Amino acid sequence: MADPRVFIIVGASLAGARAAEGLRDNGFAGRVVLVGEETERPYERPPLSKGYLLGKEARDKAFVHEASWYREHEVELLLGVRATDLDVGSHTLMLDGFEPLRYDKLLLATGSRVRRLEVAGAGLHGVRYLRTLPEADALVEAAGRVRRVVVVGAGWIGLETAAAFRSHGAQVTVVEVDRAPLRRVLGDEVAGVFAGLHEQHGVGFRFGVGVAEFRGSGGVLASVVLTDGTELPAELAIVGVGITPAVELAEAAGLSVQDGVATDAGLRTSDPDVFAAGDVASFVHPLLGRRIRVEHWSNALNGGRAVAGAMLGEPLSYDRVPYFYTDQYDLGMEYAGWVEPGGYDRVVFRGDVPGREFVAFWVKDGRVLAGMNVNVWDVQEQIQALVRAGWAGSAVDSAALADPNTSANIVW
Ligand SMILES: Cc1cc2nc3c(=O)[nH]c(=O)nc-3n(C[C@H](O)[C@H](O)[C@H](O)COP(=O)(O)OP(=O)(O)OC[C@H]3O[C@@H](n4cnc5c(N)ncnc54)[C@H](O)[C@@H]3O)c2cc1C
Repeated sequence: MADPRVFIIVGASLAGARAAEGLRDNGFAGRVVLVGEETERPYERPPLSKGYLLGKEARDKAFVHEASWYREHEVELLLGVRATDLDVGSHTLMLDGFEPLRYDKLLLATGSRVRRLEVAGAGLHGVRYLRTLPEADALVEAAGRVRRVVVVGAGWIGLETAAAFRSHGAQVTVVEVDRAPLRRVLGDEVAGVFAGLHEQHGVGFRFGVGVAEFRGSGGVLASVVLTDGTELPAELAIVGVGITPAVELAEAAGLSVQDGVATDAGLRTSDPDVFAAGDVASFVHPLLGRRIRVEHWSNALNGGRAVAGAMLGEPLSYDRVPYFYTDQYDLGMEYAGWVEPGGYDRVVFRGDVPGREFVAFWVKDGRVLAGMNVNVWDVQEQIQALVRAGWAGSAVDSAALADPNTSANIVW
């Protein structure tokens, strides 16, 4: 290659694959090495709890690129290889079982890892997590077989897997320590919509309790014992109690870590030749003026692509409004914005909430901080414009926000 530079991406993930794509599309002709500890080539995770788990989407649809794409674009894939150490002084990445690699620029796209429940019986066969494709394969295999499922944690993963297993005809109980699902993200007002949706589909909830123990016989799960003493028979328990950013390499390298790998608005870490993108990056959002870490698909998709330009020396101010979506039963939803738990003073609804066809706005001092459309489509552009205006300090009239007949200049 004419260009002698070596760019390494750690994490053969969505952010990593998009960065590789961005480097090549920007004309980078040096070596691109994509290192990933999983054995699959980069894939997207949202189908693992939706289309693939429901049996509606083929496994192959999850992959970011065809296998041939990596060959055609001369992106070296080192799969099943863990990066064990990073020396930013000598620009060297240490790999498990491979020679160290020297780099000119390096991207940390190491994403997140699931939080594990450390209780008795956690190692029983039938206690599952869902982050990776092999973990999804195991759930797909179980879907046709198991009758009683306990889901631990009423976050997005918990609720999506609950919906999928209900669709497969299993009896599903969701256990949640909080008093409602998704309360930290959505607050009480909208949490009720999701509780109602699942109850209508026959999901049983146990709120305000945790898991004391998984009980089994012969190494196989038989029941889940809750902290109030209740014992729920189950052949399968799916634990979805959150994730933590995979910051080990950054810590080993002495990079600044603040929740995730700390970067500036250009996704550059405290070392000028190391960047971070996707779930692992804790970046300064230029519009919010503070550090956030976004655990969503679109942030890996867009951040991965954006950081490629930054690695090539282009100026970057990564100012996307955080966005995510979910599909559960017949409810489709998109959410854009950023609200800390309890960081709003009211939720304004527009549309039919009981009929689950509405838009919700999280508002503080009249400013829209986030918006969510439920079974209403093609309104994201307008919601994100409102959020940007709200972050910039513009207040809107709540009555107009709530009124579906309000025309263009306030909402759409
Ligand atoms: C089941 C599921 C459903 C989801 N659904 C949605 C959804 O509907 N909407 C939404 O917005 N988001 C969703 N998400 C979240 C979304 O998938 C993540 O935000 C996204 O995957 C983050 O991508 P990433 O590239 O940052 O990292 P990750 O996807 O976490 O990938 C990081 C990769 O780096 C590897 N790695 C880590 N450390 C090392 C190392 N030292 N050496 C080598 N490799 C390493 C990991 O093994 C992993 O493969 C879902 C997530 C899951 C698990």
